[in-house]
Amino acid sequence: MRTELYIDGKWVKPVGGGTCLVTNPATEETIQTIAAATAEDIDAAVKAARRAFDRDGWPKLTGAERAKYLRAIAEGIRARQSEIARLEVLDNGKPFSEAAWDVADAAGCFDFYAGLAEQLDNNPEEPIALADDRFTSKAVREAIGVAGAIIPWNYPLLMAAWKVAPALAAGCTVVLKPAELTSLTALELAAIADEAGLPPGVLNIVTGAGSVAGQAIIDHKGVDKLAFTGSGPVGSKIMAAAARDIKRVSLELGGKSPFVVFEDADIDQAVEWIMFGIFWNQGQVCSATSRVLVHEALYQRLLARLIEETGRIAIGNGLDEGVLLGPLVSKRQYEQVIAAIEAARNAGATVACGGIRPEGFDKGYFLRPTVLTDVPLDSDAWVEEIFGPVVCMRSFKTEEEAIELANSSRFGLAAAVMSKDDVRAERVAAAFRAGIVWINCSQPTFTEAPWGGYKESGIGRELGRWGLDNYLETKQITKYVTDKPWGWYIK
Ligand code: NAD
Repeated sequence: MRTELYIDGKWVKPVGGGTCLVTNPATEETIQTIAAATAEDIDAAVKAARRAFDRDGWPKLTGAERAKYLRAIAEGIRARQSEIARLEVLDNGKPFSEAAWDVADAAGCFDFYAGLAEQLDNNPEEPIALADDRFTSKAVREAIGVAGAIIPWNYPLLMAAWKVAPALAAGCTVVLKPAELTSLTALELAAIADEAGLPPGVLNIVTGAGSVAGQAIIDHKGVDKLAFTGSGPVGSKIMAAAARDIKRVSLELGGKSPFVVFEDADIDQAVEWIMFGIFWNQGQVCSATSRVLVHEALYQRLLARLIEETGRIAIGNGLDEGVLLGPLVSKRQYEQVIAAIEAARNAGATVACGGIRPEGFDKGYFLRPTVLTDVPLDSDAWVEEIFGPVVCMRSFKTEEEAIELANSSRFGLAAAVMSKDDVRAERVAAAFRAGIVWINCSQPTFTEAPWGGYKESGIGRELGRWGLDNYLETKQITKYVTDKPWGWYIK
């Protein structure tokens, strides 16, 4: 297991000698000590990334050459899939089956962007038809430069892949800072990139506190682009830092996503997707459909079935066979979620199930999956992201009311609708003010499709070809093609 900083192709100790403790959220035991970078380490990482970009020619390689490294990284991840998934469970707490899924997805992400890197070679320039035939013009795409990528703890390796793979494919070099709570698999990614022979400085992975190492990345003048996934308040700081130097910026922030279920929906399917939409990854999912709106004709029956199925979810250490809900990621997160449930109760909501620590768990940040009803529309539980396995249920009478309730949020990351009437489902999908809309499901995520939010849920799109655009500039090259003098000053 690597615990140092990966800078300029070498494993180095942090200049200040600082460390962060890594805790297993299922046992509350410290399992590792990792390096805590300070501004000096970040400066070294950014300078290494600058050299790799400006001098050593990473962006000058063909897309096909860069793709070879990306495919080798994908292979390296796959070769260690089970070991990395185990590390993710120890670090984050998620069930092993989910971690294995994430790791496979991360490998797939590197393969996907290898394909897009190759396509950059086939289509390097776009001719532009000009009205003036004395000129020809073309647009070319070029890498932005050094990308500073900062990621959260809920999908540690996958979020690293979502940023590193498109950035490297585009020809950018990267300084990546994983969340201080969950850095172990990002360090494994550095080891895999190193084994894949990635040139020094192209990918630098630095661990440490957000307020120190993260802040040093966003403040560094040598960084051209900031790519961030995390909370809204930190997203605002990142945008403000980007504004100072006009850095490019993309933000993937939080949400309070609605799921509208109509009266013609199949109850079992609706219940399963509602559960997947809020209990997967312990509800620590930015796109979690945490506000569920069910037509009044179905509401009571669906609620009873949801409570019954929720009570059956196997809770435990993510390494144990059959577990579908692990602990929350940290003591702080656990306490915040418990406090949010308590505040909901005080605001008048009913805790229909869950809301407490499961029996038999005296250690670990375990919480029973929770269903809230009667949640006031102006309460924090309805309005703010809880980021835990807590769903707010509510009934509606008409489609108009459902759409209005769904869109009454300052967030707009995702939304879901379930109905057997395809015309209605498409109509509601079109009415949602959200960047990701699911029909008859909630949460399936595909590397090929754009991902990102409206409103306060973020700026820009990750994944698919949109993810590559995040790391590319567009250059216009215009040529004067006639021998005739221009004749403005000199007649
Ligand atoms: P966070 O914003 O606290 O931390 C995210 C990252 O930012 C961490 O690496 C942290 O160290 C770093 N950071 C903190 N302060 C910083 C600073 N001043 N300068 C630079 N970096 C700093 O968020 P979190 O607690 O890790 O994650 C939970 C939040 O992230 C939730 O609100 C969730 O909705 C959101 N999230 C969004 C998405 C998405 O795709 N939209 C995905 C996952 C999580």
